[in-house]
Order: sequence, then C-alpha cells, then structure tokens
Amino acid sequence: MALARRLWQLQAVGGVAATVVYALFPSSSIGTTAFVLLGVATVSACFGGPRHWGAEPPAAWLLMGASALLFLVGVLIRPAVTDQPMPLPLLADAASFSGYLLLGAFLVVLLRARQGLDRHAVLDGLMVALSAGMTSTLLLAAPAAGVPGRSGVVAAIQGTYPLLDVLVLMLVVNLSFTAKTWPASLVAVLGTMAMMLIGDTVYAVAGASGHIYASPLLNVPFLLAYTALGVAALHPSVLEMSRADRPPVQAWSWPRLALIVPALTMPFVLLAAEARNDWRQGLIAVVGLLVVALLLARAIAAVRAHVAAQLRSEHQAMHDPLTGMPNRKSITSKIERLVRAIDPAGPDRVWVYMLDLDGFKWVNDSWGHDTGDQLVIDVGRRLRTTVPARIPLGRVGGDEFLMVYVGEKPDALRLVEDIRTCFARPFPVINHEVVISASIGLAHAGGDPVGAPVIAEALMRDADTAMYRAKAEGPGRSIIFDTSMHAQVRERIELEVALRVALTEEQLHVAYQPIVRLDTGLPVGAEALVRWEHPERGTIPPMTFIPIAEDAGLIGSIGAWVRKEALRQLGVWRSEGTVGDDFYLSINVSPRQLTDADLPLIVSGEMMRYGVPPRCVALEMTESVMVDGSSLTARVLFELRELGVKLLVDDFGTGFSALGYLRRFPVTGVKIDRSFVIGLGINVEDDEIVRAVVAMSTALGLSVIAEGVETTLQRDALGAVGVVNGQGWLWGKAVPAPEFAERWRVTKPDRTGLVSGA
Ligand code: C2E
Ligand code: MG
Ligand code: MG
Repeated sequence: MALARRLWQLQAVGGVAATVVYALFPSSSIGTTAFVLLGVATVSACFGGPRHWGAEPPAAWLLMGASALLFLVGVLIRPAVTDQPMPLPLLADAASFSGYLLLGAFLVVLLRARQGLDRHAVLDGLMVALSAGMTSTLLLAAPAAGVPGRSGVVAAIQGTYPLLDVLVLMLVVNLSFTAKTWPASLVAVLGTMAMMLIGDTVYAVAGASGHIYASPLLNVPFLLAYTALGVAALHPSVLEMSRADRPPVQAWSWPRLALIVPALTMPFVLLAAEARNDWRQGLIAVVGLLVVALLLARAIAAVRAHVAAQLRSEHQAMHDPLTGMPNRKSITSKIERLVRAIDPAGPDRVWVYMLDLDGFKWVNDSWGHDTGDQLVIDVGRRLRTTVPARIPLGRVGGDEFLMVYVGEKPDALRLVEDIRTCFARPFPVINHEVVISASIGLAHAGGDPVGAPVIAEALMRDADTAMYRAKAEGPGRSIIFDTSMHAQVRERIELEVALRVALTEEQLHVAYQPIVRLDTGLPVGAEALVRWEHPERGTIPPMTFIPIAEDAGLIGSIGAWVRKEALRQLGVWRSEGTVGDDFYLSINVSPRQLTDADLPLIVSGEMMRYGVPPRCVALEMTESVMVDGSSLTARVLFELRELGVKLLVDDFGTGFSALGYLRRFPVTGVKIDRSFVIGLGINVEDDEIVRAVVAMSTALGLSVIAEGVETTLQRDALGAVGVVNGQGWLWGKAVPAPEFAERWRVTKPDRTGLVSGA
C-alpha cells in the first residue's frame, strides 16, 4: 500500500529524467529507449493505477491507456515511415488519429461520470473551440494543407491535426469548469493536455512551413505529457476525478471570462490583420457571428439558471421538504389572503382546520422514524386526494396538517366527515397495516380586509387549541373553537406551572385504598393513589392533573416519587407489623414510565432498599400500554415480571376489544372497571359482562379485582360470579398512611391471618 502511494512520485521523477535524457540524446538509441520506457510505464500506469484505486468508471482509463499507446506508436514510427512511399507514412497518422479518438472518448466518459456536461461549460467550450479552430485553420491548417507538392491526403491530414486539438481543448475546458475541487490527478490530466496542445502546435507551426517531421526535440512536450499522464493515473486522487461534484451554477467567473474574451475578440483581431479579401474573410465573419450567437445563448442560459435557482429556493421556503406540501408560512399567507378577500357581510367564513394524528408517537417509537415519515407522507397524499384541489392543505409540524376552507358551516362540517372517512382505511407501513385517526380542531372567522394578518394568526392558534381539546376527548374527535377555551388553556398552563412547584414543595402525598377479600372484608393489599393539596385551590383530583403531567412530561417524576414513597411506606408497615407478610401495594404506572429501559433495575433497587419482596408489589397499567406499546415497553414489562412483581390491567374493559395482549404480555391480573360494577345486581348485561371476564381470566390464570364497589348488592353479585377481591367505598376510600394504618392494623402476633384492628 505504502509503495502504491509513492508510485506517482517515481513516475514524476522518472518521467522528468527520461525527458532530460531524451533532450540530451534526441536522435540516438539512448534517447529513443528513454522515450519508450517512459511510454510503456505510462501506458501500464493507465491500465493499473486507476484500477488499483478503484476509480470509476473502469472503461475510461482503459481508453486513455490505449490512446497513450497509439500516440507512442505514432511518434515512434513516424521518423521511419515519413520518407517512405505512400501509403506507409499514413501508418503513423492512423495511430495518432486513433489516439485522438480514444483520448476524446476518455474525456467524454469521464465527463459523463462526473455528470459534468454542464450547459455553460459546453457553450464556453464551443466558443473557445470555434475561435481557436478558426485561428488554427487560418494560421496553421490552411498553410499546412497548402504546402506545394503535398498530396491531397497528406494535406487534409496535416490540416486536421490542429482541429482535433481544438476539440480536445473544448472537452478539457468542460472538465476544468465542472470541477469544484481540483484534485492532483485532475491537475495532472490538465497538464497532460496542455503539453499535448503545445506539442501539437509546435508540430503544426513546423507543418505550416512545409515540414511534417522536423526534429526529435519537438517531441519533448509529449514526453512531459506522458509523465503527467502517468502521475494522474497513479495518484490516489484519481478516484475523485470521476466523482460528481457539481459546482453550484457559477455562470460567470474570472477564469471563464479569461477564456471567453479572447475567443470573442479573436475574429476581430484576425479580421484587422487579414488584408486579403477572399474566403478567409468570409470564414472570420461566420465564426465571429457564431461566437456572438453562442455568447447570447450563454447569457440566456445563465439567466434561466438563475431564475430556476430562485424558483427552487422560493419553493423550498414555502414547502415542507418531507411531503412537498405547503408549509406553515405558505398556508398562513393563504389564510390571510382569504380573510382579506371574502365579503365581511356575506354568509361565508374562513375555516381553519388543524389536524393532528392520534398515537403518532407510538408509530415512531415502535417502528422508527423512517416509518413515521412514510406514514406522514401517505397521510398527506390521502388527505390531498380526499379534499378538493382548490382547498389549501399543508403540513405544519411533525404530524400536523393545516387546511383552509371558505364557505358556510354545514359544508365546513361535511369536510370534517370526509376527512374522518379517509382515515377509516388502514395505512400500509412496512409489513403492517396501521389504523390511525386524526384529532381535528376548527376555528373560523368572517372577512376583514384590514385585520387579516392578525386574524390569520389567531385562527391558527385557536384551531390548535380546539385540536388539543379534541385530543383530550379521545382519538378521532373534532371540536370547533369557542372563546371559553382560552380560559381553559390558561387554566391548563397555570396548572402545569403549579404542578412543577408541587413536585418540589411537597404538595403531593400518597393515599391508600384497601383491596379486600369479598368474603371476609379484610385487606389483602392497597392501591397507592396520588393526592395533590394545592395551597390555595385545595385538593386537585388526579383525573385533572395526571393528564397534564403526562403532556408536560412530568409524569415520570411524579410516578417515580409516588412509587418510592409507597414502597418506603410499605417497608415501614412491614417492619412495624402494621400489615401481614403477604400484604401488597398496587402502584399506577403511566405508559411513558414503561418506555424507560431502566425501570426494572430502579424498581428492584427500591424494593431491596425498603425490604419489600417483589410478591408484595403490583404495578397497574391501562390496556393502551399493551395494545399500542413499543417493543421497548414489552421488554420492560417482561423484565418487571421477571423480578416477580404483579402486573395488573387497570380499568379493564374500557379500552380495547382485542384481548390478544393478555396472552402476549406477562399480565397477572385484571381490575374490572367501575363502569361495569355500577349496574351489578340491577342490570343483567353488566352481570353477564363480569361473568364473562371472570371466566376468561380464570381460563388464562389471571386474578380479578373489582373496582368501585359501593354497595353490598354489588359485592354479593360479584361474589356470586366468582370474583374474590374488590376495592371500593364499601370498605373505604383512599386515606393517608397514618389513617390507613389506624383503620387496618393487623393484631400481632396473629398467625391465623389478617384481623381488623379497628
Ligand atoms: P384508578 O387507578 O382506576 O384508581 C381508582 C380510582 O377510583 C381512584 O380515583 C379511586 O379513588 C376511585 N375509587 C375507588 N373506589 C371507588 C368507589 O367505590 N366509587 C368511586 N366512584 N370511585 C372509587 P382517583 O384517586 O381519583 O384516581 C383517579 C385515577 O388517577 C386513577 O384511576 C389512576 O388512573 C390515576 N392515578 C392516581 N394516582 C396515580 C399515580 O400515582 N400515577 C398514575 N400514573 N396515575 C394515578
Ligand atoms: Mg389504578
Ligand atoms: Mg381503575
């Protein structure tokens, strides 16, 4: 590897040395040997170097190697064949001509690999080529072709060489103008071409004066060209040559002007110098006209490119990159225009719809962000095909879409229905089908030519507020904003701030509600329920602040605090003998807490610290955790179960009908929701539901606890269908720890079991 990295230096030094040797002994066999050695080294470099470095495309450098070989052959045989009878001298030309063709092919392949055929560069190349072509025709090719005594073929060939050079020149201009960076290999290739042009020009000047082969010294530029070519092929940066690094469209630059200006002025200079009034003047005029025409095309292309770039950047500023839909800025200005345009006295109103996908976070968490992105794209597409094309629709946030409609209320509401139905079909993601819904908030306003910008802002904010209200009511809801929501939003924000304070100022405490055996009425455990005593507002129920805590990201800290406090309390009760050895505490956990991979480790540490065995701990979670939980949640649940703690499904029966999760997750029991218990003994249906739940749970080996038992009628009905444990006001509300201990203390030592101390 190290040697391979240095080979190009060897080529450089060796090449220069060979050139010097050749220059010192041009006509001897020493010089010729030096030339041949250099040529062979270079051809091998072309075949081997780029392949070694993995340069793409492989064909390009094979063409270049073959071209170098043909040139070498051409140069070597030229002295031998020049003075031979026809057609032998043509052999040298055949080799050189083919060399040119392959060289051109090399440059074209390279340019295409770089995707470098930039329009400006092509036009620049053409201008330079035309001008240089004309110059060389007048100054070199015409005299060369006109040397008296030459056969037509030789004259044509000698006249063509300068033109071939001009074509190569055009491609080289292209190559250098489409490079953003100039790797050493590119510089070396350009050096090769420069040397070739010099060499050919020298030959052409000699040719114009009647010689075809003058002196071996004329070959010195070609030796240098070979040296540079070998360096280009061996240098590691040969890899970068074919990489597409498109420059930002830089239509006019100094180096470009430095080429274009001479090309442009050349015809006029020549016109001034050319006194003879024959075909030459015609040629100059035509080429001059063509160059000017190209310049014009060039200018137009530059302006077009500029306009296209501007349009592109404007599009980017107004559109969402993921879905290509209009973004918030664009939709805002549309709303503004519509508010300004409609008749304030008319029946039409501007309706703004804020859509937010329900449960999108779970999609992201479970299947990754790529899937989430794909879902957003699909939803955007489906929405776009659902609502009429004239209705502006855009994406304004991760999973938020904004829509504007102008019309009367019934039509506006019909649109909501259309959107709802378009979510009925599932969305295919990877190899799943995701059923997802959107919560929709609507806000509306009448026309107002003056206050449009303010109204547009307000409409979006209000639609947002309504959307959050809709979300709070459950998935797939839609709500129209009304001003009372402002107060609710403010209230919510105030509560969030107060809750942060509550956490640090110990306004939270834990209350304990007994879970009892229905037959004895004695507690087997208790549920720990958080309580918030606000210094001014008094008691704030968990139903109010738990959802806020979940939204505000505070549920983790609150849940952790409750759990620790409850376990500590249980540890104290156990050591004091307040509770029996099997008495357990049931603690609520939020979905968010179960996405913490460290939870099992933390819980196990806490149990150890407070001397609580795992069988005395139950964790309660809602069905949603398992129905739309991620694989991380599943892992956390399994690890928790591994520890030995019970896992209970809270509010069982209220959430989802698919019960497969009961078998897939390590659940140990269910808590029948209060809503089914209320009607027991009165409503036959409720009896049946509870009976079915008990039968199923028994079959699955799950424990059953009935929640919200308030009457003896309910208790007896539960007992009759085989429920063993219950929780409810019949036995006691949730109370602070001292009260609980006072009420439910077991008399110690009592080996017969739990006996109420009260
Ligand atoms: P939950 O887990 O279903 O708790 C049972 C709720 O029913 C408690 O309401 C309890 O006081 C109430 N309840 C118990 N027996 C009866 C009865 O006989 N009749 C009636 N009408 N209600 C009864 P609470 O304490 O207001 O808690 C409400 C919800 O707040 C809980 O429902 C639970 O989901 C959540 N929660 C409470 N504490 C925590 C906590 O520390 N962390 C989390 N994540 N959520 C909690
Ligand atoms: Mg609970
Ligand atoms: Mg419950």
